Amino acid sequence: MAQVERTLIAVKPDGVQRRLVGQIIQRFEQRGFKLVGLKMLQVSEDLLSQHYCELRKKPFYPSLLHYMTSGPVVVMVWEGHNVVQSCRVMVGHTNPAQAQAGTVRGDFSVHVSRNVVHASDSLEGAQREIQLWFQGKDLLNWDCCHHTSTYE
Ligand code: UDP
Ligand code: MG
Repeated sequence: MAQVERTLIAVKPDGVQRRLVGQIIQRFEQRGFKLVGLKMLQVSEDLLSQHYCELRKKPFYPSLLHYMTSGPVVVMVWEGHNVVQSCRVMVGHTNPAQAQAGTVRGDFSVHVSRNVVHASDSLEGAQREIQLWFQGKDLLNWDCCHHTSTYE
């Protein structure tokens, strides 16, 4: 079977501190996506600067770096049909003030500087981010026994 789409989701330090990890994982599991990688780590500035390389010139970049290195993050790779776009919708608008209720950001956050979760924004972005955060050997190909209840 051809490899299906994957995306990178991270619970940011505010989400870990607020003990939201379980609830956030539950949403993606419940939706029907498959967890293929998971780890908790204290992120280095080097990794973050690569992760957020497109934002280097933004005025909020120094505070973003400070926030993202303020404590551990839980980073995951999820797999499934249209997972990149579906997870972006589930995560909600970057600014929680504009995020719809029912989204992670819309349910758990109020300010753009503490928006609880990261989700890759495109297929190319997801591939780049997954390679940055995970080694290939740490991503598992496993058969989910619910597969035929989720897909045709
Ligand atoms: N961010 C911020 N202030 C802003 C815009 C973004 O602090 O005005 C932070 C926020 O944590 C956001 C991250 O920078 O999630 C990355 O920004 P991006 O535009 O990529 O949003 P995302 O893809 O996370 O929705
Ligand atoms: Mg982004």
